[in-house]
Amino acid sequence: MSQGLVTAAYIIAAVCFILSLAGLSKQESAKHGNLFGIIGMGLALAATIFNPNTAGVEWIILAMVIGGAIGVRLALKVEMTEMPELVAILHSFVGMAAVLVGWSSFIDLHPQAVNELFGKHELEAFANLGKHSLDGAMLNIHLVEVFLGVFIGAVTFTGSVVAFGKLRGIISSKPLMLPHRHKLNLLAALVSIGLMLQFVHVGGAFWPLMIMTLIAFAFGWHLVASIGGADMPVVVSMLNSYSGWAAAAAGFMLSNDLLIVTGALVGSSGAILSYIMCKAMNRSFISVIAGGFGSDSSSSASSEEMGEYRETNAEEVAELLKGSSSVIITPGYGMAVAQAQYPVAEITQKLRNLGVKVRFGIHPVAGRLPGHMNVLLAEAKVPYDIVLEMDEINEDFEETDTVLVIGANDTVNPAAMEDPGSPIAGMPVLEVWKAHTVIGFKRSMNTGYAGVQNPLFFKDNTQMLFGDAKASVEAILKAL
Ligand code: NDP
Repeated sequence: MSQGLVTAAYIIAAVCFILSLAGLSKQESAKHGNLFGIIGMGLALAATIFNPNTAGVEWIILAMVIGGAIGVRLALKVEMTEMPELVAILHSFVGMAAVLVGWSSFIDLHPQAVNELFGKHELEAFANLGKHSLDGAMLNIHLVEVFLGVFIGAVTFTGSVVAFGKLRGIISSKPLMLPHRHKLNLLAALVSIGLMLQFVHVGGAFWPLMIMTLIAFAFGWHLVASIGGADMPVVVSMLNSYSGWAAAAAGFMLSNDLLIVTGALVGSSGAILSYIMCKAMNRSFISVIAGGFGSDSSSSASSEEMGEYRETNAEEVAELLKGSSSVIITPGYGMAVAQAQYPVAEITQKLRNLGVKVRFGIHPVAGRLPGHMNVLLAEAKVPYDIVLEMDEINEDFEETDTVLVIGANDTVNPAAMEDPGSPIAGMPVLEVWKAHTVIGFKRSMNTGYAGVQNPLFFKDNTQMLFGDAKASVEAILKAL
């Protein structure tokens, strides 16, 4: 493949990635978006492997076969509810890749730095390195690229590992509140800047890079560990953004234009998503980073203090639905766990056939990943035009006969609006309690992800239908 052809393939791949992002922004065009992404990535890989400058193709292909086999196995095995964890761990790979690319670039330019460290005998693996030499401004620019690339990559790596642990429940979702934590973060940033100045000043050296790498690993760990459970949606999109910038940094180090463009696309779309998520939760980006949101359940009332709740059964709910003229369904994480979207779609169809107006209200952070509920409902073939965003439907609850809260909790919690002391105070929520009757589908009176008790389930117009959401919805379907 000639160099000209490689450049042309890179340009087409970059355009495919842009079309992919555009397609993924709407449900109707999401499939096409995915297809553009696949074509772009296929082209990018082919052009990189058959690039005349690429050496060791057999190693690349071996790595791709092993990585591809693991990827296919994971993708087939992973449950929809485990997607956020998978995304988090994949971000960590991008971070680690940037660290390794940074270190290899450094060793490539400074084999003597490594040789000095390992004694006089030149390591065989590094014998051919050091052939590329840079000087003057070019060297300084390259050193800054290496330093920043390793820094962003290391922060992304450990941050994503902690996010993975928190989403999987291996690490507590409670924020780690170290004393003087903001000062510690500031200190880590200042020391890293100092090390970068020294690294560039001496024309690249082992220890400043190594110390900064360790600091950045600890910094990334601390940054995410100190963020509270309810802020996890922003953390996931923030790490998505970081992984993009890490890839862009690797692109600069490798002088690979496509990696720069792709990294910038991922970095900026992740940043926009973080902004949207922050807005959805009425939080500023800085306060998310400062941590602690949705952590302290002690300040919210316990279930005993909230009073009594009423139970109902599937037959009663079926009668209620038949007698309603308008119904809104607000799904949450529990619907995903129970895989209840298919019977929910069937009920929707049945009620619509009976002349009942049925719509869905989707909270931006419902479930465990952006767009989680939209994906599940699309999978079950619920028509797009009755699936509305929170802002589009929030004013309609007052004129609604029945709301089915299926496995949602934090996203329908009135305490966010009514209790300034609540850990989720200020987060906009679906105002379901304004409807005539609310049915809560849950297995127990346990709290949601943020660990905050929900007064909705104790209100006079709410009835609880206990059990697995899928079994409950199927029972209603039977009764209908
Ligand atoms: P929540 O996590 O607040 O609550 C889910 C509820 O579903 C629980 O109370 C649980 O109650 C119930 N549930 C679980 N399994 C079942 C089942 N099989 N059948 C019936 N009910 C079940 O869900 P929401 O969607 O309302 O809120 C999402 C939360 O997740 C928010 O706090 C958000 O910040 C956070 N988050 C969101 C991310 C995103 O990107 N969207 C990413 C990370 C976190 P019980 O155990 O009693 O059944």
